[in-house]
Amino acid sequence: MAETYTVLARRYRSQTFDELVGQEAVSQTLKNAIKMGRVAHAFMFTGTRGVGKTSAARILAKALNCPNVKDGNPCGSCETCKAIARGEDMDVIEIDGASNNSVDQVRELRQSAGIRPARSAYKIYIIDEVHMLSGGAFNALLKTLEEPPSHVKFIFATTEVHKVPATIISRCQRFDFKNIPTQQIAEHLRAICKDEGVEAEEDAIFRIARLGNGSMRDALSILDRVLSMGEKKITDKVIEELLGKPPTASIAELVSAMAEGDAAAAIIKADKLLKDGMGVEQVLGELIEFFRGLMLVATCGEKTDLLDVPGEARGAFTALSGKYDPPTLVHLITLCELSLRSLKSSTMHRPLFDALIVRLALAEQFSSIRQLMAGGDGSSSNSPGAGQKKK
Ligand SMILES: [Zn+2]
Repeated sequence: MAETYTVLARRYRSQTFDELVGQEAVSQTLKNAIKMGRVAHAFMFTGTRGVGKTSAARILAKALNCPNVKDGNPCGSCETCKAIARGEDMDVIEIDGASNNSVDQVRELRQSAGIRPARSAYKIYIIDEVHMLSGGAFNALLKTLEEPPSHVKFIFATTEVHKVPATIISRCQRFDFKNIPTQQIAEHLRAICKDEGVEAEEDAIFRIARLGNGSMRDALSILDRVLSMGEKKITDKVIEELLGKPPTASIAELVSAMAEGDAAAAIIKADKLLKDGMGVEQVLGELIEFFRGLMLVATCGEKTDLLDVPGEARGAFTALSGKYDPPTLVHLITLCELSLRSLKSSTMHRPLFDALIVRLALAEQFSSIRQLMAGGDGSSSNSPGAGQKKK
């Protein structure tokens, strides 16, 4: 092992467009532009954190200045490519918009942009978090964007494109980076574990990928933490020790009790989750995720790609989805969501939580009470929100 630990996100940063995970459309368009030599002079990369914007900006910078471009991808081994990868190339200037956001700093940038590149074809400015620039700084930048020297390229990246003035955006070629699908994050994590010589259970990999929530960087930093525990094999249990989140299995048991209408068992299982260290809000969040899974299986079939769980864990969803129909699941999700919101403004967390658990378990009875209160006779079921279990 290396003496100083470099985080995975840096060690495994994508070096070519082909390696960029989950952004195929962006990669393809940029590669084509490079191949045809038709490259805009300013780019706007938007998307949430950790989806590959900065990596893509560096790859594009390399592809623009690398003398050995192949099929639109930079070679990765020439001096220019290496220097850009290290963030030390003299013609590629990386600026953090959050800390260099004043008018003076942009004026400096404009002056330096007027000077020709030192050794490469282009002088490239990568401005990260560009939405943080001040109003005056944007105005100064706009002047350069209106009449850019032919040797200058701008690559802007932002998580909050709505804060960037339309006058700036309209002068850029815009690329919207998508959240990375869990499947693709999992695939990447699997490859990294293999590379690192660590064995990993499929369920555990998926759990980390899911926790990344569409962000490769977040998933990798969780994997960093898991690896730092020094276990030979990454299992669900190892992750549970680290993150204190229960495996889908215990939520499945809770929902199973609810599906049986067994309020007592549901309360006991929910209580166990809290005793094991989960917060009330966390349990509700997991329940929402679980009901969503059931709803996806109930509406789209058990093979749906929308469900972010590996093959083996789908059993629980398939078994339970037969107990509910989609309108009921929508209703249950709504109930959880409403409780999450009222919890925020209440100090009575536990009573509210217990009441919700009972309500979810007795959804059927509650719906007939509601129908009675509404003056119905309880036999008609034209209320779409009514909780009804399939018999
Ligand atoms: Zn190169």
